[in-house]
Amino acid sequence: MSFDFDLFTIGGGSGGVRASRVSATYGAKVAIAESNRFGGTCVNVGCIPKKLFSYAAHFREEFEIAAGFGWAVGEPRFDWPTLLANKDREIARLNAVYERVLSLAGVEILRGRATVAGPHAVTIGGKTYSAKHILIATGSWPQVPQIPGREHAITSNEVFSLERLPARAIVVGGGYIAVEFASIFNGLGVDTTLAYRRKRLLRGFDAELGERLGEEMTGKGVKIRYAAEPTAIARQASGALEVTCGDGSRREVDRVLFATGRRPNTANLGLEAAGVKLAEDGAVLVDKYSNSSVDSIHAIGDVTNRINLTPVATAEAMWLARTLFRNEPTPVDHENVPTAVFSDPNLATVGLAEDQARERFGAIDVYKTTFRALKLTLTPKTERTFMKLVVERASQKVVGAHMIGPDAGEIIQGMAIAVKLGATKAQFDATIGIHPTAAEEFVTLREKISV
Ligand code: FAD
Ligand code: NDP
Repeated sequence: MSFDFDLFTIGGGSGGVRASRVSATYGAKVAIAESNRFGGTCVNVGCIPKKLFSYAAHFREEFEIAAGFGWAVGEPRFDWPTLLANKDREIARLNAVYERVLSLAGVEILRGRATVAGPHAVTIGGKTYSAKHILIATGSWPQVPQIPGREHAITSNEVFSLERLPARAIVVGGGYIAVEFASIFNGLGVDTTLAYRRKRLLRGFDAELGERLGEEMTGKGVKIRYAAEPTAIARQASGALEVTCGDGSRREVDRVLFATGRRPNTANLGLEAAGVKLAEDGAVLVDKYSNSSVDSIHAIGDVTNRINLTPVATAEAMWLARTLFRNEPTPVDHENVPTAVFSDPNLATVGLAEDQARERFGAIDVYKTTFRALKLTLTPKTERTFMKLVVERASQKVVGAHMIGPDAGEIIQGMAIAVKLGATKAQFDATIGIHPTAAEEFVTLREKISV
């Protein structure tokens, strides 16, 4: 049977673009449909603009630190429209780069919302195409709790294009986006409250990371309200928003940002009619080769709700392309995926949290340290860097590396290679440090806590 395309990808985000481009370089005839801007969440309303905003927010402290080194920088002033305009220019450049790499690889670009019309059929713009394989890479969308007045709040989709920076804001949630945006707002001078329903941030991470991050963020001026959850939002005559929390407390702010998780984009996509099984949260259920319950339909990235990170979506894309078009069946590998949270301070981690390691291995050794970074010693700043290694007692393999402090993501990326390769604590210790750095502490940790 002949098809219009070997692969039809729905969604031009991190995963879809990579799968399409790589499959085309393997010789497949590929089409990709995108209903919005190429690059998807990461490029347009995620990783990239977020990290640019995070850089902007860190400058406030850098100016303060500079004074300890003899610099007089005057009264710093921040201009939100300048940041927005410069960010928009960079994102537009990236949108064009994404389209160009697709075109150069020979991928046919189709604009508009596509739906699945059958195991080998996709409809877009009133036209139906046949494809040997269909790839669902439609990503995810913010979810907001059903509370009265939720329409007055924003999500991460809107926060990147606010006309004005609010004077006062509440960020709701205790995950990645909540701690990153509470830090960004706070750094840019917004009076910031973080309202989280539990008692420790970043559920799923090593417990000490969540606890310590909360303390450090509080030290930098974020007002963290634990066990607090907005139950209603009301617009005041002044235009301000009054937020009522579960404990009855009320707070007036200018913006409420919900960072309360995301849902896979599968609604009205034609998947169920084509026989594709979905999880309760709408995620496409896939096997280890990213195959759905229909042989010819595959899914990668956030729409599968496995590990929702850009490098994971692009890795899943490459594994799938190899499986389908290079005759090299390649299962996904979600072991030891490193991740960073671009809060202030930064936080990063790879491998198992202390309690996960104890559960899996029984006896473990834990090594940790906290210290004031050298760069802060000429300043009144009290922020402390934190590092922790989790070691399986029997094999002496390092199974978890965790850090809070400047450039944590940059440092943990290197540690992740060692953890992925199964390096032992003795091999960490045999590695010579680079002095004076914070990273060298990871190879000089000696004080053991056995648990
Ligand atoms: P997406 O990038 O969301 O792409 C899906 C695309 O499909 C979209 O462009 C959408 O318009 C399109 N689409 C949807 N339905 C259709 C349809 N029917 N027809 C045609 N097109 C359709 N990850 C990190 O690793 N590091 C970070 O620092 C980071 N920061 C983040 C910050 C924020 C605020 C957010 C929200 C996410 C962040 N992430 C980060 C997560 C990362 O953005 C996602 O994991 C990644 O974008 C997932 O890629 P994807 O290809 O699965 O989906
Ligand atoms: P997360 O899953 O990280 O966090 C969601 C938070 O919202 C949790 O603290 C959760 O609480 C809380 N929550 C969920 N539902 C409700 C509710 N009904 N009422 C109150 N609170 C609620 O999701 P995010 O939205 O922060 O980010 C989405 C994903 O995007 C991340 O999981 C991550 O995969 C990716 N991302 C990655 C980044 C990075 O790599 N730096 C940055 C930003 C996003 P509880 O803990 O109690 O469930």
